[in-house]
Amino acid sequence: MKITVVGTGYVGLVTGTCFAETGNNVTCVDIDANKVKKLSSGQVTIYEPGLEKLFERNLKEGRLHFTTDLAAGIKDARIIFLALPTPPGEDGSADLSYILNVSDHLGKLLTDYKVIVDKSTVPVGTAEKVYAAIAKHGVTEFDVVSNPEFLREGVAVEDFMKPDRVVIGTSSERAQKIMAELYAPFVRQGNPILFMDEKSAELTKYAANSFLATKITFMNEIAILCEKLGADVDMVRRGIGSDDRIGKRFLFPGIGYGGSCFPKDVQALVKSSEEVDYEFKILNAVTDVNEKQKLFLVPKIQAYFGGNLKGKHFALWGLAFKPNTDDIREAPALYIIDALVAAGATITVFDPEAMENVKRVIGDKVEYAEHQYECLQHADALIIATEWSVFRTPDFDAIINTLQNKVIFDGRNLFDVKRMQEQGFHYESVGRQAAS
Ligand code: NAD
Repeated sequence: MKITVVGTGYVGLVTGTCFAETGNNVTCVDIDANKVKKLSSGQVTIYEPGLEKLFERNLKEGRLHFTTDLAAGIKDARIIFLALPTPPGEDGSADLSYILNVSDHLGKLLTDYKVIVDKSTVPVGTAEKVYAAIAKHGVTEFDVVSNPEFLREGVAVEDFMKPDRVVIGTSSERAQKIMAELYAPFVRQGNPILFMDEKSAELTKYAANSFLATKITFMNEIAILCEKLGADVDMVRRGIGSDDRIGKRFLFPGIGYGGSCFPKDVQALVKSSEEVDYEFKILNAVTDVNEKQKLFLVPKIQAYFGGNLKGKHFALWGLAFKPNTDDIREAPALYIIDALVAAGATITVFDPEAMENVKRVIGDKVEYAEHQYECLQHADALIIATEWSVFRTPDFDAIINTLQNKVIFDGRNLFDVKRMQEQGFHYESVGRQAAS
């Protein structure tokens, strides 16, 4: 099948590459000429495990193409995916201008039947708006489908190739048949393609992300309570996670969720609710708690150093909003950096993949280490903000020999408290008693 993907970011590039992998001929369109140039010359523009191999193979075999020209990009396509940004507008609602501008442009270009698929996360009613933006140009031979994407950055290729489910929102039988054919290779193991109406599909995506954000936030509040009451959140987590109704996943407390999706999607659902005169109370609380949680370690650090961080120097491991990605959007690490620098501290940071992105955003606000242990030099304490695997079993001797003090503030509960105690660390984490 000939497919066009408009928007070649995290979702668009993974979507395009994975559809090429199952034999489709894919053209990715992006307005960023620099990105298109890099991709055309074989350079992958994001870090995503497993993507490079697929990308190289499909580029080499001529199934993957890149262009900035929308008209040329959609010419022979049967399906056009919109994988465009839907950032929060000033009031928190999803900004649909990228989607609707491209839809308007498509309306001027369509000459034969095409399926326009919304892959971006968009509020209920967007499929109708996309339809109207195209139809106002007099075009009738097209369908609009809502096909929200559930991939997780860091395991995006795996998620895309073997999705738990595919959600397709459409009232058109013709479009349904085309989408079923396209996705058949991805659900061979029996996971469902769920066909539904457009609105339900649109809401499914927001409901999924908001539920997950709520689950994490609930555990973060349980963790706060554990510290205050003298309980251990690891034990509580195991205790509740073994109940099938609760499940083991997404129960790990930490310094809040970040990324380009959860914060904006929770806000957007709150806004959509307000628009129909409903106050979504839980989600307002989730956002409030999460904002505070990003800075959870800061008062602990301040208290340890007697309330004065002027002249203190910290090592910070982990900048990406989660491991296995170079994405730093809404990353808790950036909030911690701001707070510590404002309090007069200096910081040297290390992340396996996200350093270049951070340099672009905050420049010389911090120093950048080439290596995780070099990062520790002259530091009064180590702070951990992302649970990269490479931080999980570090060389503790190297840490002890390089850090000025044996002090670690761990926002991701990577180490065993008892072991840290035995090694003589002052060690503070989330929802567990401190070792000192
Ligand atoms: P992104 O910012 O990484 O990528 C968007 C791309 O669109 C960029 O490359 C940008 O240059 C391009 N673009 C902007 N305007 C354009 C235009 N007029 N024509 C062509 N290209 C244009 O965004 P993303 O993370 O891929 O997210 C895209 C959508 O998917 C959002 O709605 C997001 O909520 C949703 N989503 C994201 C994830 C994720 O993990 N990142 C997961 C599921 C859903």
